[in-house]
Amino acid sequence: MDRIERDFYLRDPEEQADFLLQTWCNECQQVDLGMTDPVEYELDGKIAIEGKCKKCGNSVTTEIAPDDGDDTWQ
Ligand SMILES: [Zn+2]
Repeated sequence: MDRIERDFYLRDPEEQADFLLQTWCNECQQVDLGMTDPVEYELDGKIAIEGKCKKCGNSVTTEIAPDDGDDTWQ
């Protein structure tokens, strides 16, 4: 499946801040360490944000649940 790049910075600043804080790092095995360098993309009908763990620099990915009422994806 192709990865479709999206623009994370088009999001609401508050939303951006939330996503940058609400992370799960597989390496640290800890939530909410935060991420840097976020890249938003769509893959297989799901939207995700990928960045780097603030603590260890490992890649972290947050999947975004679709908004209510926005049911355009199959
Ligand atoms: Zn980490």
